[in-house]
Amino acid sequence: MGEKKKKIVKSITIDVEKCNGCRACEMICSAFHATPQYSSNNPARSRIRLIRDPLRDIYLPVYAGEYTPAECMGRDKYVIDGKEYDECGFCRASCPSRDAFKEPDSKLPLKCDMCEDDPPQEKPLCVQWCLNDALIYEEREEEVEEDVKVEDVEVGLESMIDKYGLEKVMDTISRMAAAKRS
Ligand code: SF4
Ligand code: SF4
Repeated sequence: MGEKKKKIVKSITIDVEKCNGCRACEMICSAFHATPQYSSNNPARSRIRLIRDPLRDIYLPVYAGEYTPAECMGRDKYVIDGKEYDECGFCRASCPSRDAFKEPDSKLPLKCDMCEDDPPQEKPLCVQWCLNDALIYEEREEEVEEDVKVEDVEVGLESMIDKYGLEKVMDTISRMAAAKRS
């Protein structure tokens, strides 16, 4: 068993009734994480995505969670206040079954970092930009097992290995390393 330590756990609660589908959250998230920062805003690169079906009054913002290499088996439809939400609607995973939460060029998984990127924001930007208070930021202190932080680069490599196989990824890295050295 690892050692326990106190940790601030950050989360965003979604109030779907308040979301009007304006997509400001997608815009600011993708702009903040663009390279160079604020050079573009492309919802496909956002770590929060809006599931939108205006004819059924459905506006559901979902922010990106963990990468998963395989689709899950336990899919359910949800009916809330008479509205039926699609099976994967509430899922936060970057998963092979859909395009959401994948960087469109590299297909690497995207994950919400609570805007702790450089410069770290006091409050997530999507929360700050949501004028309808549909996104509610919460912090709580929890005692957790000391864990080894999995770096983004490791998650990215894992997804490449799942897609192309270890050998191909190793070959590519060796080739690129040799090219850099020469
Ligand atoms: S900014 Fe707020 S109201 Fe607009 S789409 Fe995002 S969550 Fe919905
Ligand atoms: S907290 Fe920051 S990184 Fe996460 S979805 Fe909102 S804007 Fe994007």
